[in-house]
Amino acid sequence: MPRISRRDFLNGMALTIAPGLTPAAQLAADPARYPPALTGLRGQHPGSFEVAHEIARGPRGRIDEGAIEESYDLVVVGGGISGLAAAWFFRRAAGPEARILVLDNHDDFGGHAKRNEFTLERRLIIGYGGSQSIQSPRTLYSDVARGLLRDLGVDIGRFDTAFDRNLYSSLGLSRGVFFAREAFGSDVLVPGDFMTRPANEPARLRGPKLREEVVAAFPISQASKAQLLALYDATHDPLAGRSVAEKLRLLKTTSYRDYLIKICGCSDEVANCFQGRTLGFFALGSDAVPAAELREFGYPGFAGLGLPASEYPEWQEPYIYHFPDGNASLARLLVRALVPGVAPGDTMDDVVLARFDYAALDREEHNTRIRLDSTCIDVRHASERVVVDYVRAGTPHRIDAKHVVLACFHMVIPHIAADLPAAQRHALSQNVKAPLVYTNVLVRDWQPWIRLKVFDISAPMSFHSRVALDFPVSLGGYRHPRDPGEPMLLHLQHVPGAPNSGLDARAQFRIGAATLLGMAFSDFEQIIRDELDRMLGPGGFSSARDIAAITVNRWPHGYGYVANSLFDGDDYEEITALARRPFGRIAIANSDAGGDAYAHIAIDQAERAVRELLQG
Ligand SMILES: Cc1cc2nc3c(=O)[nH]c(=O)nc-3n(C[C@H](O)[C@H](O)[C@H](O)COP(=O)(O)OP(=O)(O)OC[C@H]3O[C@@H](n4cnc5c(N)ncnc54)[C@H](O)[C@@H]3O)c2cc1C
Repeated sequence: MPRISRRDFLNGMALTIAPGLTPAAQLAADPARYPPALTGLRGQHPGSFEVAHEIARGPRGRIDEGAIEESYDLVVVGGGISGLAAAWFFRRAAGPEARILVLDNHDDFGGHAKRNEFTLERRLIIGYGGSQSIQSPRTLYSDVARGLLRDLGVDIGRFDTAFDRNLYSSLGLSRGVFFAREAFGSDVLVPGDFMTRPANEPARLRGPKLREEVVAAFPISQASKAQLLALYDATHDPLAGRSVAEKLRLLKTTSYRDYLIKICGCSDEVANCFQGRTLGFFALGSDAVPAAELREFGYPGFAGLGLPASEYPEWQEPYIYHFPDGNASLARLLVRALVPGVAPGDTMDDVVLARFDYAALDREEHNTRIRLDSTCIDVRHASERVVVDYVRAGTPHRIDAKHVVLACFHMVIPHIAADLPAAQRHALSQNVKAPLVYTNVLVRDWQPWIRLKVFDISAPMSFHSRVALDFPVSLGGYRHPRDPGEPMLLHLQHVPGAPNSGLDARAQFRIGAATLLGMAFSDFEQIIRDELDRMLGPGGFSSARDIAAITVNRWPHGYGYVANSLFDGDDYEEITALARRPFGRIAIANSDAGGDAYAHIAIDQAERAVRELLQG
């Protein structure tokens, strides 16, 4: 085992992080560990991030001379979809004899692709804690990503029947909007929706009421209601007199909130009806999302501008490509293909209920191994090898490999790969991830939703900007609840930040991440109970009686950074290209390397990184 120098930060750190590591260390010691069934604070859970944060605070610690404990052909840092896919592509190219180790700092594999399980009255209920769905696979997926899905046995057409697109509408439920008293004076839930999108879902999910009827029930002034409805008026051009190019430029450099207030003449009240609606997709409120982006998404206010219609075929694909545990099934399929004996079965159906044996992930007799609870702290070349140092349960270890793929967050890499050129480290540091929280609340039944006639609530000024019944997917022997008397998972989204502060996206993300890290489970629980009681109470909901379990998936480092025309120049693609450059025997993957936060990008970037190593 390597010796750590006296001056090294790890000495001090061992004192400060030992309590945080205790659960992980306990889990590691427990052969029956089964992380998907853990409730409470999950996502980037206590015990997973402390070592990395200590390194980021610096000064960087290097382990003094120490023996190499193990040698591999490939070490992958990061066991998310990208890291697992990198292991898969490498093994395909190098053959099954190749020795591969995947390191990840969490107690579960999959990174953002996280499975949450619950058991209530001996019934298993499966949810997703992060990476939600396969987004628009027919239009967005490359041949590489599609090929991997095919090789893993994923047939996209299977979701046509697995996802029940009629369940909620057949019960008379539609989307709805919740207005919180703090911003709107009173708590009001309005069934029906006033938006024309998403384009990829049937109109019936917006409910039977006309837009005018829905808006009439909003707790805003008559003048504001008129302003809101006028946004849909195609005969009025708020930018009359400007050329098409000028209009497009202005929309790229003006936030939607500013567009509504300063250009369309709307009140704050109207802007507040949209404020948090953008959070789920952009992790930013409408004050930090360019108007141009929301024009593409069908937000109102643009119909009279006379601009060419934008064609985004991906938004025409239905949003149904969802396993009961979201993209965690992709991670599980990869792990099952990589590690012998870890789980039974060989189809996309049987992976849903397959029980994974976590004790089998890291066995000496296997050529591919996945080591959890392990944070990489240093990667550097040493003659023809790469030395990798990592910390597990408070103990430093040293291994080496012929090749390394860094499939971890880009913002971590400058702290663990000091040999990279300074310009590349700077480029990597520009990828500030967006914080967000996906919470699963298990309720004993969902009768209140039937009484309130909603299945998906947007709450534009609440802590949780979206509260919804889980996606109705039945697959591989797993049956989604159909009867409102059955237990159900509620999906809650929260995005912290600094809305309306004038700060740019990165600054808002940093503030949001720090806020999340400062919150205990009890803080979340109190807000969850309060908001659900206020939203659903009129339908007979009582948090004290109806909630059976809560899992808060907290992601201080969630979506990878996506260029934002309010804050970034046109050079973000160049910055990303510089960030992902291979360096000697080290290649760089993760969805961050593609400049977008999607599973298919994570896969594409894994394949590219492995190709670079093998061609290099
Ligand atoms: C809440 C949420 C919802 C999302 N929804 C969707 C969706 O619907 N569809 C979609 O396509 N994408 C979605 N995404 C994007 C998601 O990021 C990608 O789908 C995909 O999971 C990214 O995989 P990755 O391997 O690139 O990164 P990650 O999943 O982040 O994996 C990287 C891993 O590296 C680990 N790591 C970091 N530093 C170290 C270190 N020093 N040592 C060891 N390990 C380290 C990280 O902790 C992490 O486990 C969502 C993301 C979030 C957060």
